[in-house]
Amino acid sequence: MYFVEVILPLSLAKTFTYRVSQTEYEYIKKGMRVAVPFGKSKIYTALVIDLHQNQPQLYEAKEIHQILDENPIVTQIQITHWLWIASYYMCAIGDVYRCALPSALLLESETVIAQKTAVYVDESLLSDEEYLVYQALQQQSSLKVQDIMAILNKKNIFPVIQKLIDKNILVLQEEMIENYKPKLVRYVRLHAKYETHDGLGQLLEALKNAHKQKEIVLHYFQLCASEKTQNGQKPITVKKLIEASKSTATVIKALIEKEIFEEYFIQEDRINFAGKSADTDLQLSPAQQTAFTEIASSFTQKEVCLLHGVTSSGKTEIYIKLIETYLATGKQVLYLLPEIALTTQLVGRLRAHFGNKVAVFHSKYSNNERVEVWNQILNNSQKAQITIGARSALFLPFQNLGLLIVDEEHEQTFKQVDPAPRYHARDAAIVLAHSHGSKVLLGSATPSLETYFNAQSGKYGLVEITTRYGNVQMPKIELVDLKDKYFRKKMSGHFSDFLIESITAALALGEQVILFQNRRGYSPIMECITCGHVPHCLQCDVSLTYHKHKNQLRCHYCGYSMSKPSHCHSCSSVDLTTKGFGTEQIEQELITLFPNAKTGRMDQDTTRGKYGFEKIIDSFKNREMDILVGTQMLAKGLDFDNVSLVGIMNADNMLYHPDFRAFERSFQMMTQVAGRAGRSGKQGNVIIQTYNPNHNTIQQVTAANYLAMYKEQLYDRQIYKYPPYFKIIKVTLKHRDFDKLKEGAMWLYQVMSQNLNMPVLGPEEPAISRIRNEYIRVIIIKIPQNTAIGGTKKTIQKILNSFEAVATYRAIKVVLNVDFY
Ligand code: ADP
Ligand code: ZN
Ligand code: ZN
Repeated sequence: MYFVEVILPLSLAKTFTYRVSQTEYEYIKKGMRVAVPFGKSKIYTALVIDLHQNQPQLYEAKEIHQILDENPIVTQIQITHWLWIASYYMCAIGDVYRCALPSALLLESETVIAQKTAVYVDESLLSDEEYLVYQALQQQSSLKVQDIMAILNKKNIFPVIQKLIDKNILVLQEEMIENYKPKLVRYVRLHAKYETHDGLGQLLEALKNAHKQKEIVLHYFQLCASEKTQNGQKPITVKKLIEASKSTATVIKALIEKEIFEEYFIQEDRINFAGKSADTDLQLSPAQQTAFTEIASSFTQKEVCLLHGVTSSGKTEIYIKLIETYLATGKQVLYLLPEIALTTQLVGRLRAHFGNKVAVFHSKYSNNERVEVWNQILNNSQKAQITIGARSALFLPFQNLGLLIVDEEHEQTFKQVDPAPRYHARDAAIVLAHSHGSKVLLGSATPSLETYFNAQSGKYGLVEITTRYGNVQMPKIELVDLKDKYFRKKMSGHFSDFLIESITAALALGEQVILFQNRRGYSPIMECITCGHVPHCLQCDVSLTYHKHKNQLRCHYCGYSMSKPSHCHSCSSVDLTTKGFGTEQIEQELITLFPNAKTGRMDQDTTRGKYGFEKIIDSFKNREMDILVGTQMLAKGLDFDNVSLVGIMNADNMLYHPDFRAFERSFQMMTQVAGRAGRSGKQGNVIIQTYNPNHNTIQQVTAANYLAMYKEQLYDRQIYKYPPYFKIIKVTLKHRDFDKLKEGAMWLYQVMSQNLNMPVLGPEEPAISRIRNEYIRVIIIKIPQNTAIGGTKKTIQKILNSFEAVATYRAIKVVLNVDFY
């Protein structure tokens, strides 16, 4: 008897055994997908990870339905890596598989399928079965996989669906189709008919009596001559041609109609970035060159290297040079970003350099696009030699990975929070690189403590750049003492006189301003002056945030909202006030303080919807706004060339966050936001408003002293038993019944602290102890650095198994977060 061992895309820790025939056995390879029945009537796309002849002891192995692939679509390295993730992050292998594969490759019986709109379908090219499905979709807007089984009267229908998806006729309905199109730039070139030998003569003939037009054409030739680069002709924009010939768009239009010119369009992000000259001949500065050489030499000895370069030191250009060397040897490169919203900027920069060798992979792309990139990488295609993506790009089927870049490695978005697998993409990248024998470059101006510790201890290489590109000075950081300002009545709303003067000065010079406030909405608390009542969310243990524009109170944890009360719900008084402030309030105040400036806001509320973020960034870059107010989204490696002033409205709420990383994070956030100032040419200014100007962290930011922050925090981490000295596993327990949860959490805590020979803390009520009507308790396990972590995890798993075996605790949800961030 022959069997395959498969992973199912379900939250199940086990693998499952299915029967296959001998022929199938000989055909199937590890990494192929098979459709298998599971449960009563469901069918799933499973992944074969082994072939064997061992009959399962505990159940009767069912037969597979169908083999779905002709060749493996998942590599052995991936399977090994996914198993590592499941074991290290203590989650089900099914969770990893589900997260790793684009959903188009994971068809299951519940999947809803629809016809793609606005595509022409040549029915004659469809097979009989494909046609039946297609026809059914003319009657009905969508079908479930199960419906299709009924239509075709068979179970093995995944191949048919897959073909129809490949033929661009079907889509999986979960995807929303809204594409952000970066701006198109209009270009002209000489019409093809004049490209011939005697074209010029004909052209002059055609223009004999048209002076204005002839002049433009001559200017066009001049531009062509002056814009020649090593790699040939640079395209000529309509805009440039109009400027050069001092002509108008109408005349150019006439030339296009006359078929002397032809117009064409190129997406802005495919051509160039920030209007700088073509960077095909990118030259590294001496500091960059030194760093580049040091990285290369570090790679001869170590697998991982940290590039610690101050903001605007030109790390991206160093990455580009490094990528070049790997491409030259035919290797694949993966470039991880903390945030998909940043890809547009980066893709532009990389495509300017590498043309169409750059592929992008992220969750906002359509299923079809993701499958396309998957296949390109699997086939080692030229088109995906460089892949840019957020953390999930780590799961792609690389064949020949040479280099992994993790940019802004300190960003916490590299850690997945929900759902499982709760993996850290930086750490998982290092493990992946090891199996490919490839190198990892971690880049940051403000490295995480863990990474810097590894670099200091010699585990990673360390390369530092302390100067900005072009020897632009680091921004000048000045502090404003809010207590003093309020006392002396020098505040207008939340703006100190100094901040107002500085903004006025920057605007007068035509420069742009960024204001940072790490809280959205108008104000986080609404309070009754008479009785002190604060409206809270009904389902969560948090106060509701006031959103003035929508005249609503909203919960930032569950999305609950109600319209703003006109009187106190407790004592009926109408004297309500607000406390604290968010981005919305800052924006409002700006409108009063600077009525002539154009302001914009970037936070979760304004960037909702696909590409909301990109639209705001584009518009700010194009100088359609003078002042941009935003939350931590602003701190993420954006490159603006006209920002001369950054204001941090209030440094204190970051500092006093109840989290062992609060000071490290505050330092990173402030340094990164500050780094947006003065990125080209002139020194930038940064103003930090705070009640604690003497706080160590704020002093470290002001002095740009990363090392001081590092040493101080490291000392605390050692004393209080936190990373990098201890590994943290956070166990979160949730249940709707307060008492049951309390009891269960106490049980678990006691068993853990008795059986684990290490610090176990809890069970604590977190700062927000109820979300969506579920109460929450947290237990923290601290594993000392030198302890064998595998054994500890086994013990923890055993304890959890016995916890679940207690009938009254079974309904309590337990979430494990290893290396909790
Ligand atoms: P970082 O990522 O270190 O903050 P960037 O890579 O964004 O810095 O570079 C900062 C700015 O300097 C960018 O606008 C970039 O185009 C420019 N720059 C950096 N290096 C070079 C170079 N070698 N040639 C031309 N421009 C460069
Ligand atoms: Zn009241
Ligand atoms: Zn809520």
